[in-house]
Amino acid sequence: MPFSERSQDAMNQQLNLEIQAFYTYLGMSDYFDSVSLPGFSQWMFNQSQEEWMHAMKFRTFIQDRGGRVLLSEIAKPSSDYPSALAVFEKALGNEQAVSQSIANIYAIAEEEKDFASQAFLNWFVTEQVEEEKTMSDIIDWLRRMVDSPHGLFLLDERLGQGGLSGAVPAESETPA
Ligand code: MG
Repeated sequence: MPFSERSQDAMNQQLNLEIQAFYTYLGMSDYFDSVSLPGFSQWMFNQSQEEWMHAMKFRTFIQDRGGRVLLSEIAKPSSDYPSALAVFEKALGNEQAVSQSIANIYAIAEEEKDFASQAFLNWFVTEQVEEEKTMSDIIDWLRRMVDSPHGLFLLDERLGQGGLSGAVPAESETPA
């Protein structure tokens, strides 16, 4: 089954986007560490590891199809944010952009009658629904507890235990 140039280019762009997400979330994890919210920091670290796995899925798929992986530059991430809410609003915007990008690649695969790519992308379509829901849920929580340090403390504890869809990949490191 042919792997078209268009599909290959789009998948390489997606690979970069996933690595960029990995880097962005790692910076967010560092921000949370700097403001002593270890649960948020661990949660974002786990999220960054998920993005890395997504990137590697695209890398392997491109190679398995006989394509050529093209790594490109990634932007310096921020590790400085005004609030936890600002972090998650940016993360949600990021996930929405990723969802749109996946949809665009899917449309290309459909046009090219590239069924193998469609089958591969199905997992990501489902995954993005979960990613957006998780970020939205946490934003709802944070909005509800504005001016509530106690609430923030409880949420930090919960996220540290893998709560709220606990983005804890099976092979994630356990904090010491
Ligand atoms: Mg991803």
